[in-house]
Amino acid sequence: MIFDTVFSDVIPRTHDVRSFRFQRPDGFGYEAGQFMYVTIEAAGGRMMKHFTISSSPSEGHLEFTKKLTGSEFSKALEAAEAGDWVGVNGPYGKFTLDPDHEKVAMLCGGIGITPFRSMIRFWFDNGLDNDIVLLYSCGTSDEIVFREELDEIARKRDGLRVLYTLTREGGDWDGERGRIDGEKVRRLIPDNGERLFYVCGPQAMVDAMTALLRGVGVPGERIKREGFPGY
Ligand SMILES: Cc1cc2nc3c(=O)[nH]c(=O)nc-3n(C[C@H](O)[C@H](O)[C@H](O)COP(=O)(O)OP(=O)(O)OC[C@H]3O[C@@H](n4cnc5c(N)ncnc54)[C@H](O)[C@@H]3O)c2cc1C
Repeated sequence: MIFDTVFSDVIPRTHDVRSFRFQRPDGFGYEAGQFMYVTIEAAGGRMMKHFTISSSPSEGHLEFTKKLTGSEFSKALEAAEAGDWVGVNGPYGKFTLDPDHEKVAMLCGGIGITPFRSMIRFWFDNGLDNDIVLLYSCGTSDEIVFREELDEIARKRDGLRVLYTLTREGGDWDGERGRIDGEKVRRLIPDNGERLFYVCGPQAMVDAMTALLRGVGVPGERIKREGFPGY
């Protein structure tokens, strides 16, 4: 079923990432981490793509967060104004926080943070008991999406550890450097044998992270994956 709604806000997150916010249509329920199909009007007609819902069910609005690539869809989004029509179809997907699995680890790269922003906001707003480690890889510190919010939640509540690892940062950075690899997983998440892993990002990265987790000894049934094609 397609729900009709309208854009209300565009929120810049980094130089090429924007959150697109709109009114949550009546009857549109979802779980943190799920995705939806978004249809927009463009000069050449309607266009549809799927996006993780980066807002949390605990928030009143609906939001997705897109890396702008110069594609026709990206250009149409950049031109969107408050009040423009949007069609949303969903929710879909099983990449959701498991409240019964207390210890979880979230591994992501770049725009792959979107489902984790939703889950972490939901976890915080609802006082859930999970113990969460987020290991987030980006090129530079400027490219970390939702950094302020993630750091703020980690400061406010025990049970969330946020770790960034940067592959192209020059100068001052006293955090981790380089890609997520087996050594980092063993050192930064020493209790990896007890955790349920969630992996999200460009498809190639998800495949690589799955292979490295298997190498660390994490069984396949404890790895949940969401790959974004197109990056
Ligand atoms: C379950 C799921 C959830 C997803 N969630 C998200 C999400 O939260 N956020 C998100 O950003 N994406 C998400 N995606 C991916 C999303 O659906 C798109 O595939 C992605 O945004 C790329 O779309 P696009 O229009 O930018 O590029 P496409 O038109 O699909 O083109 C692919 C690539 O070609 C290049 N390209 C295309 N046209 C041009 C042009 N005119 N000029 C220059 N380069 C060009 C771009 O580099 C682009 O990356 C998700 C996908 C899935 C399956």
